[in-house]
Amino acid sequence: MQTTKPHAAMFASPGMGHIIPVIELGKRLAGSHGFHITIFVLEADAASTQSQFLNSPGCNAALFDVVGLPSPDISGMVDPSALLGIKLLIMMRETVPILRRKIAEMKHKPTALIVDLLGMHGLRLGKEFNMLTYVFIASNARFLAVAMYFPTLDKDAIEEHIIKKKPLALPGCEPVRFEDTLEPFRDPTDHIYQECVSLGLLYPTADGLIVNTWDDMEPKTLRSLQDPNLLGRIARVPIYPIGPLCRPVDPSKTNHPVLDWLNKQPDESVLYISFGSGGSLSAKQLTELAWGLELSQQRFVWVVRPPVDGLACSAYFSVNNSEIQDGTPDYLPEEFVSRTHERGLVVPSWAPQAEILAHKAVSGFLTHCGWNSILESVVNGVPMIAWPLFADQKLNATLLNEELGIAVRSKKLPSEEMTPRVEIEALVRMVMVGEEGCKMREKVKQLKVTAAEVVSCDDGLAHNSLLGVAQQCQRLLDSTSGMARGA
Ligand code: UDP
Repeated sequence: MQTTKPHAAMFASPGMGHIIPVIELGKRLAGSHGFHITIFVLEADAASTQSQFLNSPGCNAALFDVVGLPSPDISGMVDPSALLGIKLLIMMRETVPILRRKIAEMKHKPTALIVDLLGMHGLRLGKEFNMLTYVFIASNARFLAVAMYFPTLDKDAIEEHIIKKKPLALPGCEPVRFEDTLEPFRDPTDHIYQECVSLGLLYPTADGLIVNTWDDMEPKTLRSLQDPNLLGRIARVPIYPIGPLCRPVDPSKTNHPVLDWLNKQPDESVLYISFGSGGSLSAKQLTELAWGLELSQQRFVWVVRPPVDGLACSAYFSVNNSEIQDGTPDYLPEEFVSRTHERGLVVPSWAPQAEILAHKAVSGFLTHCGWNSILESVVNGVPMIAWPLFADQKLNATLLNEELGIAVRSKKLPSEEMTPRVEIEALVRMVMVGEEGCKMREKVKQLKVTAAEVVSCDDGLAHNSLLGVAQQCQRLLDSTSGMARGA
């Protein structure tokens, strides 16, 4: 029997920062465009993916499946000290043969394969199974532009940028500063550089690129990517801006001690601090941050995890709630909790972030600048203190601070130099009670309005972009069922 419903298989990288947006995209394709969805994830993430999908409001369980794939052993293939993104990339590459086997076993073959950024080696399965292929960029257009542009550079341009540290001149976009460049692109002699260059060349082999952004958030870059005389010359395939994709939440319907605490605080009075699903600070920086918060005298909710000296992403796979006892954890200044408890809450490791940012008491966010965190802040009209650590976060911080004017940031990059307590105190005051904070709040609230407009089901641009994907899939479905009938 030939099904008439388009069926999208989604190949998601491990980690909540990747899985959450994939789930949201799946929900939109299922809910608004009638797709059947199969999400392929590594086994460790399968149960939480399943429950997040099932617990989503309005989600129709009949329209999706979650399939767990065994985690490959990559210990012999990558240095243990390698960047997190590189480890994930290799894990995903090694999982493609298993994905291939699973798709071959499916009774009804998917119409489309949607891979996330790190799953691009899976694109080669498209031809084999007559599927349309899409890359889902759960980051932003600026990241996509850099990742696609870098591999096209000649030797001289690379030398200008990497050796002489001149900004990268992306056609039609704001120049990218050397220090914002993604880590793997900084050393052309490293084999990881070659790996990332080859990956960048894969984007145009897909049938379309789906990006979690929208026009008002990144007007110049999106225009350039869609213009055949600018970056569109490199992209060569349709760009579908479908953002902002965020988990819809209602803090008043969520039970959590943090939300109970927020309910007792005045409107727009609390700073939320979090470094994403795995970002961490050094012991010294953690101490300075604690003192900066205390000195600022502002209300706060702080998701803390133990310090890590070295890689800022080392805690990525080790979220747990057991490090802290009642009172002050030993990695914070002595008696910090008792000194600040009347206006601050320290939460170990993980908190319901989307609900916190949607709460009316929250009016500032000190963030590591992961793209999901930024979107959750923008859709709630919350200005930010940008504290980028790794991956695309420095690019994102520059976008927020210099292009959009909705975040302040420290003078030196926090990933390179320690930010002292007095500077942190000043940044916190600036965003929470300063004139600059008021201006940023106004701007981010305007962006919030545009975000709500684009995702509207009536004629929002995000909705129409996904409609483009759905129509492409429907055409393939119609042509293959026509062929089947003719056979
Ligand atoms: N998140 C959360 N609670 C936390 C930390 C993170 O719910 O304590 C969620 C956050 O809301 C976001 C995702 O995890 O949806 C993190 O994604 P992001 O892209 O911001 O950063 P990453 O974790 O990938 O570095």
